[in-house]
Amino acid sequence: MRYFGFKWTQRSSLALEPTTSQSTSCKIRAAKMAVLRLRALVLAVCLVCFYAPAPSWAAAGDFLRCLSASVPSQLLFTPGSPSFSSVLVSSIRNPKFLTPGTVRPLCIVTPTNASHVQAAVLCGRRHGVRVRVRSGGHDYEGLSFRSVQPEAFAVVDLANLRSVRVNRASATAWVDSGATVGELYHAVAKASGDRLAFPAGLCPTIGIGGHFSGGGFGLLQRKYGIAVDHVIDAVLVDAQGRFLDKKAMGREVFWAIRGGGGESFGIVLSWRVRLVPVPPKVTTFIVPVSVNDGAVDVLTKWQEIGPALPETCSSGWWSRTGWPPSSPCTSARATRSSR
Ligand SMILES: Cc1cc2nc3c(=O)[nH]c(=O)nc-3n(C[C@H](O)[C@H](O)[C@H](O)COP(=O)(O)OP(=O)(O)OC[C@H]3O[C@@H](n4cnc5c(N)ncnc54)[C@H](O)[C@@H]3O)c2cc1C
Repeated sequence: MRYFGFKWTQRSSLALEPTTSQSTSCKIRAAKMAVLRLRALVLAVCLVCFYAPAPSWAAAGDFLRCLSASVPSQLLFTPGSPSFSSVLVSSIRNPKFLTPGTVRPLCIVTPTNASHVQAAVLCGRRHGVRVRVRSGGHDYEGLSFRSVQPEAFAVVDLANLRSVRVNRASATAWVDSGATVGELYHAVAKASGDRLAFPAGLCPTIGIGGHFSGGGFGLLQRKYGIAVDHVIDAVLVDAQGRFLDKKAMGREVFWAIRGGGGESFGIVLSWRVRLVPVPPKVTTFIVPVSVNDGAVDVLTKWQEIGPALPETCSSGWWSRTGWPPSSPCTSARATRSSR
């Protein structure tokens, strides 16, 4: 206030004493300036609150050095690596996240064993670098491989940790997070002579890690429920880098990782699941019907009779334009297997 008052005095130096009207206008002007200063102050506070700081490259360098001490260099991809882009896009399903504006990771780690995952978590914590985990890359917002704001982050891509071990006698299996649901279905059917299955999602390229973290519904759910109803154990790397099984993580965390949202409670490396019996033969059919052919009536009828069908019978309704459908599942599968 004093500063602006002084400026007025300077500018009004032709008048020895300000008149009353000059004095009033001075006060009004000073008040206006005060409002402007207040606005500037609020704007500055907002900028401080919401501005995302540029990545700390010093921390990023320390993080990379930390990782290099525990993870073989061929499993680390930085933007300078020739394969960085192909590894990054290998499981991106939504082309909207392939634009140059997408905030990319400072590195991608592709662990081949659990200790590499542990190293990424520990190095990230030590050097303040956020670690995102990707299994099948089907996240609707792409948050397993991109950031919505500029920040230094790394991606732990579990594509190399994808084995499925089926125990037919106990009707159980251990499946790694990097496997797809299609790989799980195939391994279970093969090991059991088509007598066992697992109730999870439709699209075969969905990753086990993200799918189980969100619940996992599919065509067997009327009879058997959703995927996480059949998870009986898991191995988690928590924020301290500890390996925890169901007993060690405790009931609460074990409950939370089964549907409580991916990436919230740690990185789940593998899941033990209970398999379900199925008949060796399954009948499927599709009834394509256009709006001009009475699709609205068919949909109405389907809603009436659907709930009354036996629970061994699943039905779904897809509304779409054009035929045959172009599936993000099939194209993505081809991309990933070419890695
Ligand atoms: C084409 C398509 C079809 C779909 N069909 C179905 C369906 O039939 N039924 C259904 O229920 N859902 C379906 N979904 C939704 C799908 O299950 C979720 O998007 C799921 O999160 C994808 O898992 P992901 O591993 O492929 O994805 P990712 O992008 O790898 O991961 C998704 C989220 O989980 C986190 N995450 C990944 N791996 C781990 C891990 N190991 N530990 C902890 N957190 C992890 C990621 O950080 C991210 O936040 C479909 C999605 C798409 C795009």
